[in-house]
Amino acid sequence: MAITIALAGNPNSGKSTLFNKLTGSNQYVGNWPGVTVEKKTGEYTKDKNIKFTDLPGIYSLSPYTLEEVVSRDYLLNERPDVIIDVIDATNIERNLYLATQLSELRIPLVLAFNMMDIVRKNGDKINTKEIAKSLNCEVVEVSAIKNENIDALVEAAIKKASDKNTKEIKSFSSSLEEYIDTIENSVESIKDHPSKRWLAIKLFENDEKIEEEFIITEKEKSLIDEIRIKAEKEFDDDAEGIITDQRYNFVTKITKGNIKKGVVGLST
Ligand code: GDP
Ligand code: MG
Repeated sequence: MAITIALAGNPNSGKSTLFNKLTGSNQYVGNWPGVTVEKKTGEYTKDKNIKFTDLPGIYSLSPYTLEEVVSRDYLLNERPDVIIDVIDATNIERNLYLATQLSELRIPLVLAFNMMDIVRKNGDKINTKEIAKSLNCEVVEVSAIKNENIDALVEAAIKKASDKNTKEIKSFSSSLEEYIDTIENSVESIKDHPSKRWLAIKLFENDEKIEEEFIITEKEKSLIDEIRIKAEKEFDDDAEGIITDQRYNFVTKITKGNIKKGVVGLST
């Protein structure tokens, strides 16, 4: 049976390098529907039933750039069997901001801590086990450029693809979790959607594209507005700011003490 694996991640995290190692010359280049953003798909060199898609680099699943819209439409509508989030391990905090969002889609997720060769060279120490535990997510350390641990990464992704117990990362404070939960369970058109948590967060943020794509009744809309106004007062910020802020807080919390930067030049 064929398995589809999407490579997502920030720009320059090494997605294309990894994609090239995985697929070799079994690549197809086209365009994403309706836009001029390049779409690359390919088959695993060791098993043509495993298909990879190299997604455009993004920092978030917002609707503001073409790359973000392409990536989120693909993930939400095509639903790959598993996402590999390619993370630049020399910059974990920044890269995990996207991971929290990918996790909300409830598509099986594996994190690849890439560029481990540089991490080693810099003498940085990452407590990958602890970070993985807090994220409820499998993390595989790799170096795409040195072809290190790539097979183990694919193996972890395949294993994850058949995992029916995909868990989201719950990154928010208890009151915000409650607001999102209420939206999740009140809007009829998203209630049974596998990515309902992510959709509820987008509705909370007033994401117009999602509001257009799903049927939201007047009554549901006023409930969402009511929740948003209440939260904005409580947190003294706009809805998007609240979400961004809490994501960063979560990432700071789970990485704290688990990343130690080496002194460049002193490492051997
Ligand atoms: P993308 O934007 O995510 O597709 O990133 P690329 O694959 O284009 O890689 C960005 C840069 O990082 C390139 O110069 C790569 O050669 C480099 N790179 C990718 N993976 C690794 C790695 O594991 N180790 C090192 N040292 N460099 C890497
Ligand atoms: Mg690329």
